[in-house]
Amino acid sequence: MTQTAASVTRTLFPQTPSKGRVYNFSAGPACMPECVLEQIREELIDCRGGGIGLLELSHRGALYDALNNEAEAACRKAAGVGSDYAVFFMPGGATMQFGLLPLNFVGEGETAAYIDTSIWSYKAYTEAARCRTVSIAFDGRALPAKYARVPKNGEFTEPKGAKYLLYCQNNTVEGTTFWAPPETSLPLIGDATSDIFSRPWDFTKHAMILAAGQKNLGASGASLIVARKDFLASATQKLPQILRFEDHANARSILNTPPTFAVRVMGLMAEWTLKVGGPEAIAKNNAYKANLIWNAVDNSGGFYSWPAETWCRSHLNVCFKTPKPELDAKFVAEAEKHGLFGLLGHREAGGMRASIYNAFPVKGCEILADFMADFARRA
Ligand code: PMP
Repeated sequence: MTQTAASVTRTLFPQTPSKGRVYNFSAGPACMPECVLEQIREELIDCRGGGIGLLELSHRGALYDALNNEAEAACRKAAGVGSDYAVFFMPGGATMQFGLLPLNFVGEGETAAYIDTSIWSYKAYTEAARCRTVSIAFDGRALPAKYARVPKNGEFTEPKGAKYLLYCQNNTVEGTTFWAPPETSLPLIGDATSDIFSRPWDFTKHAMILAAGQKNLGASGASLIVARKDFLASATQKLPQILRFEDHANARSILNTPPTFAVRVMGLMAEWTLKVGGPEAIAKNNAYKANLIWNAVDNSGGFYSWPAETWCRSHLNVCFKTPKPELDAKFVAEAEKHGLFGLLGHREAGGMRASIYNAFPVKGCEILADFMADFARRA
């Protein structure tokens, strides 16, 4: 039988987990390709035959320098940006970057705006509001069904002279997503923590994109930053260097001892992204996986439901609930008996959430969809 291009590509994606492992629907830290985990295991003992393990490498040595360069190059390629953009790694997760943004870019008497479509954009806003005057450009919390959709273009305000407009590209909690970056004349900042490299995305429409590592980039504790160099240069100099994005970029992510392990893992994950066909191939695979589960929701005759509007449903976090919280608990417990773990919804949203990032296997989505149909029939 001749294989189609799509099926050849699909064979590169993770398949059934190896013995003893389960389908891990965790929202993050989240499941990783086993080939990457195996490479990490090897490098932990001896990285590239030099007799020193990954965690033991000096960050000032030639080998770490090479790993750091490779990580940057793979992320740069996956992001599709040129030399006018800096690609670098910051210590700390997304919340750390949320705190640094106003310190870097918003001075006294200045402002920035936040499109609020998830608890994460709200957190970015409230962290900034502790130290600067910032505003909400779109209030998704106030929608009749909280955070049930993202705004359409023109549905958010753009305060004149605002230093940036921040949005959360994919709402990890309620399962909504922007299918294109919002159109704005303000410097745009995207929080790509839960959708980085999951689909073709125009990074050049942004002044900055930030992504904590723990989903599509593998390890928590560090973030990938892709930012226009002139935007980075607009930051105040009146900050300790360690808090300035531009200083980290200029030091090629080695301003002090960096989170070397997380950077190496992010590099390996970006290389894996390219190997399976890049964001384009990944987007097709992700759409196929998500539709298996969304279809199980839609074909359940109303047994499963979710307030998120259909047109902005996420392909990475598929959320649903049964008619009763007691049944949700039963669903989660029974699912574990089928090897399906981590399905409990976020505490703020309830219900179930299947987080199916780039490395999550198709087979796990098929098993979940079948289980959903069976559970609904029996309930
Ligand atoms: N933004 C998004 C979209 C998230 O899903 C999360 C949760 N991982 C965060 C921000 C917060 O990330 P962190 O825990 O690294 O601060």
